[in-house]
Amino acid sequence: MKARLGTGGPTEVAAARHDEQLRQLRRDLVEQLWTGMRLIALIGVPVSLSRYFITGWTSVYSVHVGVGLFTLIVAACRRWLPFDVLAIAFLCLLWTVGLPGVVAFGLSASSIWWLVLSSFVASTLYSVRVGVYLALATGLVMGIVGLGFITGSLTPPMDVSRYHAEPTAWMTLLLVTGAFAFLLLKTLGSHQRAVYQLLGRVRVQRDEVRDLYDHAPCGYQSLDAQGRIVKVNLTALRWLGYTEKELLGRAFADVLTAESQLLFSPAFSDFVMGGDTLDLELDLRRKDGSSIPVLLSASALRDSDGRFRMSRATMFDISDRRQLENELRRLARTDALTGLSNRHHFYAEATREIARARRRTLPLSVLLLDADHFKRINDRHGHAAGDQVLQALSGTLREVLREVDLPARLGGEEFAVLLPEVDIEDALAVGERLRDAIEQQQLVLESGATVRFTVSVGVSSLGAADPHIDELLRRADTALYEAKRQGRNRVIAEHPP
Ligand code: GH3
Ligand code: MG
Ligand code: MG
Repeated sequence: MKARLGTGGPTEVAAARHDEQLRQLRRDLVEQLWTGMRLIALIGVPVSLSRYFITGWTSVYSVHVGVGLFTLIVAACRRWLPFDVLAIAFLCLLWTVGLPGVVAFGLSASSIWWLVLSSFVASTLYSVRVGVYLALATGLVMGIVGLGFITGSLTPPMDVSRYHAEPTAWMTLLLVTGAFAFLLLKTLGSHQRAVYQLLGRVRVQRDEVRDLYDHAPCGYQSLDAQGRIVKVNLTALRWLGYTEKELLGRAFADVLTAESQLLFSPAFSDFVMGGDTLDLELDLRRKDGSSIPVLLSASALRDSDGRFRMSRATMFDISDRRQLENELRRLARTDALTGLSNRHHFYAEATREIARARRRTLPLSVLLLDADHFKRINDRHGHAAGDQVLQALSGTLREVLREVDLPARLGGEEFAVLLPEVDIEDALAVGERLRDAIEQQQLVLESGATVRFTVSVGVSSLGAADPHIDELLRRADTALYEAKRQGRNRVIAEHPP
């Protein structure tokens, strides 16, 4: 199944999940803050109400009661309110408590703590920048209030000395502020711990993924739209013998053999233009010049407009498979006893060579060899000795012939040789050389006995009217028959009609 791979890679998915977890942590924090404030308000409202009636300081305690009620309402509704409403309301609450206190009681009032702590809360809920703004605002307010007191333009709205002489009054405020500061710092602390835990988990996950990426038993790499390597794992680097620095930014085609480059370049262009997947068998070229066959499977990472961002690919080392395939191919064309080409391979090669000879009007000849009185060798020395003779005979063929000639065992004790670019006269000479070399040969058998043997050779050449190798073999066979008839151990040619 070829699924269209989406725009979001696994990294984006993981990042989105972590963002969501962080958002949830901030949401939890703001809810906890309101839960804590509710406890303070639950105690603060009755205390403030009672002090309202006892002291008659209506301006101070009506603010306290109002703030307390506001806190209780918001805390009760906190589950239904969006994050920003809760966060901004909390910061407003701190300033509503802190600012009038500072104005009323001066710079030594415990209310200053509410303003100072607002910048901690803001930097945790939003960002350090927002926290710094609130800290600056706090400093500004304190400066203005201080200046007001110095110049006398600001006078405390209530009798501070009387307030100070009333221990229960300032102790109440101190206790509330202390409880608030404790609660706030505790909540912020546990939030920070949760964030660090999340970061720790993310780091562990990242390390696991990184380890899997680098040390997987397959190579991984990513290419940009121009086919340059943008990411590569350690396994692939080890295969190639390069360092990451040497490879990043380099064209992937640079680490392919010339043959694989021809295969890769057009396929990659199509892939970038709109393909989903790319599957190719390629040969990587190592730094030391040797090569390694790999199966490359790539998928495309595209942006939401469908533009190619990069490929991500796995590469599997298929050396073993390639070796096995080569071995199978070799076995399929080889005769098991002699290691020469078999009949099937001889026919295929001969057909190719005949076509080439016709195209370029070149001569081509064929020899057909048959061991003389081979039956006697078998009868006298046994079948194994016969096999040894056949092997010796093929060894002589290999020695005497050129690299481009193709000797083959057609079956039994019958051999054929394809002689490209050789005319009938030269083929007769080659046949004679072979016959002579075989006649000279003395084979020592495993039993210790010695054997000499001869061959008869039929020669034919490509004629204008020969459509197929069969014609040549048929004429060579006629010549061979004639050689046998004339007494064996001789070479006879049958000219084309
Ligand atoms: P001629 O000179 O007329 O060719 O005589 P010949 O005895 O060589 O001819 P014939 O075709 O009658 O006998 C061929 C023998 O080769 C028969 C068979 O037992 C033997 N032979 C065929 N294949 C093998 C083989 O793989 N190993 C051995 N040892 N003998 C084989
Ligand atoms: Mg025979
Ligand atoms: Mg024979």
